[in-house]
Amino acid sequence: MKEQTFESIRHKGYDIRFRSKPNFDRLYVELSTACNFSCEMCFSSGQERKSGTMIAAQTITRLADELSGYPDRPEIVFAGIGEPLLHPDWRAFLLRFKEIPAKVGLHTNGALLDEEALTFLVDAQTDHLCLSVDPEGFGHESAEKSLETLEMLHAIKKRKGSLLPLVSIQSVLCSKNIGGSDAFGRRIESLGVSEWILSNLVPMNAEQAKTALYPMSPISLATPLGLSFASRFPFARVPSFRLIGERGCPFIDKNSLVVGADGRITLCYPFLRSHETYPFGKKHPVAAYAFGHFPDERLLSVWQKTDVSSFRAKVRLGLFPYCFECEWIDTCELITRGSTDCHGNMPSCADCLWYHRLVMCF
Ligand code: SF4
Ligand code: SF4
Ligand code: SF4
Repeated sequence: MKEQTFESIRHKGYDIRFRSKPNFDRLYVELSTACNFSCEMCFSSGQERKSGTMIAAQTITRLADELSGYPDRPEIVFAGIGEPLLHPDWRAFLLRFKEIPAKVGLHTNGALLDEEALTFLVDAQTDHLCLSVDPEGFGHESAEKSLETLEMLHAIKKRKGSLLPLVSIQSVLCSKNIGGSDAFGRRIESLGVSEWILSNLVPMNAEQAKTALYPMSPISLATPLGLSFASRFPFARVPSFRLIGERGCPFIDKNSLVVGADGRITLCYPFLRSHETYPFGKKHPVAAYAFGHFPDERLLSVWQKTDVSSFRAKVRLGLFPYCFECEWIDTCELITRGSTDCHGNMPSCADCLWYHRLVMCF
C-alpha cells in the first residue's frame, strides 16, 4: 500500500495540499451491459443493450483475489448500465465475494427474480437488494410484478427469520408519474423496504427534458412531492429540485470505484458510457472515461494514481466550473463537445446532474 503522503492540486494560483483516502469503500461491478428492458431514460443505446457484454468469469476471480488481500474490504455492488441477473453466473459470483468475506449488494430491475432466485439471495445472506421500480406513468416496465416480487421476498425473509437482504427501492420521478408517488409510497412501506431512493430524471432527449421536475424556484419551500412528504415517508431519500443547496458527488462521496463489464475502471456511472443528455433541454454529450483497466492494473493502484486522487479531491472540494450557473451556457461550445470544460478539466463534472443532487442512485 502506498505510503500516505500529502499530494497537492493547483487552483486559482493556490497549491492545495490534501491526503487522500488510501482505499475505496464501495466497488460497483457491472456484470452485464445487456438488458431485458428498454427504458426510455436509459443511458445505453438499444443496440448496446442487445449486443451486451458479459463480464468474464476470470475478471471476477481476479477481482475477488485482489480484494481478499485488503485489510478493509469494500462493499461490492452488482450494478452498472445493464441487468446483472442476465449474467448466467451471477449466483457463483455473489457467493465468491461473500466467501472473501465482503458485503454484497445487487441493483436490478427485478424481472428475473422468481421464488428460487429470491430464496438464493436470502440463503446467501446477500446484504442489500435494490430494485428499480417507479410510480405508474413513467419508468421501468412491470412495476406491478416488481411489487409482487417484494411481497414474495418479504414472506421468504419472514419464514426464514432473516433480516437480509435489506431492501431499497429506487424510483425515477418526472411530471408523468409524480402524481402516483404517494400511493406508491404507501404500497411499499408495508413490504419491509428500508430505503426509498427518489431521483429526478436524466433527460435523454429534448422532449423528455420538458417532463423533468427541476429546476424549481430557489425561494419555493415546497418540493413537487408536497410539504409533508418527508414526514409521511421517513424512509424516503428525496433529491434536490433546485440548483442551490447541498452539493456533492454520490460516487466520490462514498469513495467508490466502478468496474465495467469490459474491465474499464472509472469513478461513476456517467463516465461508464458515452451518451447524450439533455438537462434543461440542451444537448450535453458525456464522453466515457476510463481511469484504468482491470485486470491489466490492480484496482488499488488505479485508486492511488496521482491523477485519480487529484480528480477526487477536486470533486470533493467542488473545484470545477458549474455550467448550469454559467451565463455562457447557451453559447458555450465546450459543453456541446462533452469531454472538457473551461478550466481544462478532463473528464469534466461541470454539467453533472448528480453533483447538484438532482439525480440520486443506490
Ligand atoms: S433496466 Fe436499467 S439498464 Fe435496463 S433499460 Fe432500464 S435503465 Fe437501462
Ligand atoms: S464549460 Fe465553462 S464556460 Fe462553458 S458553460 Fe460550462 S462553465 Fe460555462
Ligand atoms: S461526472 Fe458527476 S457523477 Fe461523475 S464524478 Fe463527476 S460529479 Fe460525480
